[in-house]
Amino acid sequence: MTADAYLTVRCDAKDPEMPDGQCDREGHWPVRVANHTHLRRLLRTDRGWRRPKPGRDICPDCWAAGRR
Ligand SMILES: [Zn+2]
Repeated sequence: MTADAYLTVRCDAKDPEMPDGQCDREGHWPVRVANHTHLRRLLRTDRGWRRPKPGRDICPDCWAAGRR
């Protein structure tokens, strides 16, 4: 059996259009990365994710919409 664990970064922005009021969009990378630090760097440079402060990840849609 082969199992791969993919790291995920989840958007922390509030989104009033979502049922629970949270965006919760997930950021992945298609190949395995070593850790969340590396994943965040890839998402930031290649996918437009932001991290305005520690413990707060914002997806590109929320960032563009001003949900920070
Ligand atoms: Zn979001």
